[in-house]
Amino acid sequence: MSDQFTVQDPTTQFQKATPEFQQQQPEPGLEKKMQPKPDDGSQTYRGTGRLTGRKAVVTGADSGIGRAVAIAYAREGADVVLSYLPEEEADAQEVVKIIEEAGRKAVALPGDLKDEQYCEQLINTAVEQLGGIDILANIAGKQQFVENIADLTTEQFDATFKTNVYAMFWLCKAAIKHMKPGSTIINTSSIQAYSPSPILLDYATTKASINTFSKSLAQQVGEKGIRVNVVAPGPVWTPLQVSGGQPEDALKEFGNSTPLTRPGQPVEMAPAYVFLASPESSYVSGETLNANGGMPSP
Ligand code: NAD
Ligand code: MG
Repeated sequence: MSDQFTVQDPTTQFQKATPEFQQQQPEPGLEKKMQPKPDDGSQTYRGTGRLTGRKAVVTGADSGIGRAVAIAYAREGADVVLSYLPEEEADAQEVVKIIEEAGRKAVALPGDLKDEQYCEQLINTAVEQLGGIDILANIAGKQQFVENIADLTTEQFDATFKTNVYAMFWLCKAAIKHMKPGSTIINTSSIQAYSPSPILLDYATTKASINTFSKSLAQQVGEKGIRVNVVAPGPVWTPLQVSGGQPEDALKEFGNSTPLTRPGQPVEMAPAYVFLASPESSYVSGETLNANGGMPSP
């Protein structure tokens, strides 16, 4: 069976978008209801002990990129606290099962990241139930397209910033108090930080903020032996995109215009988060790893 180390043609390794990609669900969307199903790596990702004994908090761990990362972290030997919204329980329970099958501990704690107390509770749960925290992967995000600034409500602008920027701030603040040297934080930006779409005004702005926040924090906590890095995905096939992230008719060609001619799959994002969490990246901090199908990025 092929795994992430098997050489393949990256243009044909996963399918191009087709008219069957056109579909819609209410926000936040369930991976269970997507067809074709995003590839979470559960059939292919092979761990090699790169995160043995580590204690991770992963947000957005029920679906999409966060799900693939939670599975990869567990197969690399980490125990994981999973954050997601209560309405995503069905997706999350599948991830819990896969982590337990890998012989690792999974602690599921649903809640709303727009609430600072929930963010603190997530970190405290890792400290109490895993015995600490040495990896924080901030992957949750909100993306709702709006064509015209006149229709972009203050409520949406606020919710996008609370989910994407404030929650990252609250989680980093709470986690750093407990982090020992060697700990790592990985935040999630986007190609949207540098090539913003006109219909993603609020979202793209949060992603640029995440890059700048991470570069600042990396310098602040470097002397504590804590590294802070960013993964910036391009178009990846996840519930975010089919629950208001894109206009429905754009999905049939989603990602096909990238240099690698197809959308990315969540499993292809996981190795970037593993590398930045593991001691292999010991001299990398304040960096952004772009995994976007080859689109030029600064
Ligand atoms: P996804 O829908 O699978 O994951 C997003 C998750 O965010 C949800 O599963 C949900 O659990 C969580 N979330 C949202 N609001 C929340 C809240 N208020 N409280 C708690 N959890 C909340 O989609 P995804 O594409 O895997 O998104 C993961 C990250 O990747 C996001 O930060 C997104 O911006 C980023 N990203 C995605 C793409 C893409 O094309 N899919 C591209 C660039 C960046
Ligand atoms: Mg989800």
